[in-house]
Amino acid sequence: MAHHDCDLFVIGGGSGGVRAARMAAQRGARVVLAEAAALGGTCVNVGCIPKKLYSYAAHFADDFRDAAGFGWSAGNVSFDWQVLKANRAKEISRLNGVYASLLKGPGVQVVTGWAQLVDGHNVQVRTAAGQRSYAAKHVLVATGGRPSVPTFPGCEHVITSDGMFDLEPFPKRLLVVGGGYIACEFASIFNGLGARVTQLYRAEQILRGFDGDVRRFIADEMRKHGVDLRIHMDVKAIEKTSHGLAVTLADGSTLTVDSVLYATGRVPNVAGLGLEAAGVAQGKDGAIVVDEHYATSLPSVYAVGDVTARVQLTPVALGEAMVVVDRLFGAGKRTMGYDFIPTAVFTHPNIGTVGYSEAEARKVFGEVTVFRSEFKALKHTLSGSGERTLMKLLVDTATDRVVGLHMVGADAGEVVQGFAVAMKAGATKAVFDSTIGIHPTAAEEFVTLREPV
Ligand code: FAD
Ligand code: NDP
Repeated sequence: MAHHDCDLFVIGGGSGGVRAARMAAQRGARVVLAEAAALGGTCVNVGCIPKKLYSYAAHFADDFRDAAGFGWSAGNVSFDWQVLKANRAKEISRLNGVYASLLKGPGVQVVTGWAQLVDGHNVQVRTAAGQRSYAAKHVLVATGGRPSVPTFPGCEHVITSDGMFDLEPFPKRLLVVGGGYIACEFASIFNGLGARVTQLYRAEQILRGFDGDVRRFIADEMRKHGVDLRIHMDVKAIEKTSHGLAVTLADGSTLTVDSVLYATGRVPNVAGLGLEAAGVAQGKDGAIVVDEHYATSLPSVYAVGDVTARVQLTPVALGEAMVVVDRLFGAGKRTMGYDFIPTAVFTHPNIGTVGYSEAEARKVFGEVTVFRSEFKALKHTLSGSGERTLMKLLVDTATDRVVGLHMVGADAGEVVQGFAVAMKAGATKAVFDSTIGIHPTAAEEFVTLREPV
């Protein structure tokens, strides 16, 4: 029998890798995990967590303004970027420690270094102490993704989301390029923190793939909040000057800013992994091709998360990791369903969504009944804020099943998570109608929408 140093070798200590390593070890497997940078990966270090902390910070700007209508006077408020950065850094290193203990507890051996696949069972890791080799029964690749920036004159002056958290000094004038999750979230956050933000999107409306009403509504709200959002617009060139970065736009106009954030998508982290030589099949941008059990073209090698370039969300990477562990070290032969994955965009206000957009629903189900409501939330009757809320339900007319639920408004992610359970369970509009609302909330609107559009 072949000798194996471990049952599972995990490459990458991010969302998917840590979950798989920990759960496999808890089931008695001998697990080694290699991480080249900080434990926790993108989500913990330069993604979901620091982003959400900065989003909280930015929301205080609205809160201070809103408070006046309720009788509060906050006086002269000011924001200290250095305090926010230092407190974030402290919390993230605490989380790095939590991840280390989560792995240590069940006995995962963590190796700090860059891992490379040699073949289906052998991995080499470049550590500070030199090269180490491991023979593994199974290998899981969970190396995530990295930002992708197009090449153009002056592109060396731009930064990506990785560089936003520790930016020095605070960018008083910020240009954001892109119209996806990251561009919209960072435009909202830095606008809230006090930067003058211009956002450029190359096509007709931001957040491609989201429901049309949601896209229109959030674009209006972001503009109302102060983001100078320009559509059908792109950057032609950037030049560094003594007053800042001089940006020439596609229409010939110019803009001078302190920083330019490119949020133009992410590509799989596969460079130097040795996939080609080992014989692992890859697709667009090098994404690892997997089947419904996350097996690659090499039967002993699996891949989950962003490196497979499918749904790039932390809970999806975690779910995929659990499927692999169940299959390799449990009784499970289950697969994961990709329908009705809820998601939130932490813009100001938030977007929460689950299921189909109206356009997709019409393609899939044919006849669709649409329920929609736009209103001013109770809080803003006194706050004086012009912020509005959008709620929308899409119902498959033939079966009465609710197949799309969308919200733009305060805490939309919190609201939509619960509804996602109902929709996954196949709830019909009749079930929504028979559910008693919680009054007074914005969420109750989802169970009181009676008149179709
Ligand atoms: P990662 O978490 O990226 O982990 C991969 C790890 O592998 C990294 O630590 C890397 O250092 C390591 N690695 C790579 N190559 C090697 C190698 N050869 N050897 C050793 N180690 C290696 N998702 C959400 O659900 N909600 C959010 O709010 C959210 N916000 C985000 C905000 C931003 C700014 C970004 C960039 C992403 C956000 N995401 C969010 C997406 C989420 O972070 C990713 O989907 C998730 O982290 C993917 O997990 P993963 O395990 O595939 O990879
Ligand atoms: P997205 O793929 O979501 O968006 C990329 C944006 O950049 C699109 O608007 C795209 O336009 C535009 N773009 C692409 N190439 C160019 C180019 N060459 N020039 C100008 N514009 C361009 O990627 P993100 O980087 O925003 O985020 C990556 C992923 O991370 C997300 O898809 C999401 O899965 C995850 N994420 C999740 C978050 C959450 O859950 N809250 C938060 C942040 C990230 P077009 O639409 O025309 O293609």
